[in-house]
Amino acid sequence: MSDEAKRVNDDLPSSSQSYVCIHCMTPADSLYKTYPSFIRMTQCKECDNDVDKYVEYDSVLVVIDLLLQYSEAYRHILYNRGIQHFSRLLTIFLFCGAYERWIEARQNQEKVFDLEWRFYLCLLESTVEIGIYVLSALVLEFFLKGSLKRAAFVSKAVVAGFYGRVCVVLSIIFHLYSEPSYRILTQLFLLISHFQICRALHPQLSLMRAVVFVCLSTLFAQILPPIMMASPN
Ligand SMILES: [Zn+2]
Repeated sequence: MSDEAKRVNDDLPSSSQSYVCIHCMTPADSLYKTYPSFIRMTQCKECDNDVDKYVEYDSVLVVIDLLLQYSEAYRHILYNRGIQHFSRLLTIFLFCGAYERWIEARQNQEKVFDLEWRFYLCLLESTVEIGIYVLSALVLEFFLKGSLKRAAFVSKAVVAGFYGRVCVVLSIIFHLYSEPSYRILTQLFLLISHFQICRALHPQLSLMRAVVFVCLSTLFAQILPPIMMASPN
């Protein structure tokens, strides 16, 4: 990674207190300036592009670009817009993850009590899974930065990477949960989302290292929860 990229990363804001260019991640003081009769987008001093074109976009268009996995859209959300309603998002992602696990497990059980108990276990597994992701991201943050000043920011960003979990709603509507292709696609989508979040958080990290980090985090997050929740009998 070039010295310039490292310098840019060192200058990144620890929260949404300032902004970054969504193209090159150079810090910026503002996204736009308001004049009496018009608004002018702030130009990046490094790449001469608009610092953040998404401030003019409707939220739906931003979501579409997120679904298309555009890096600029991720940077807009993480640095310039900020993750809002975090606790609600976390709750939704936890329950979506729990339901996905539960719908798979319930086919082998018929008793209502067992199904209910199974759902609680799935919710716990889902919590541990997200917890492992957050923990691994914090370890990486400490390894790269030498401090955890951005711990809250990094944690929120990692949790936001689970937004693909809401696909479970589609699986319920269209009865896709038993389709292997659906499961593969959603896992792949989550993997790419986490990769984009990782790249947005740590632009100095090489492509290969980011891939390895995300794959290892995913592996641990998938394998460990069922082992930890396994019944001794
Ligand atoms: Zn720029």
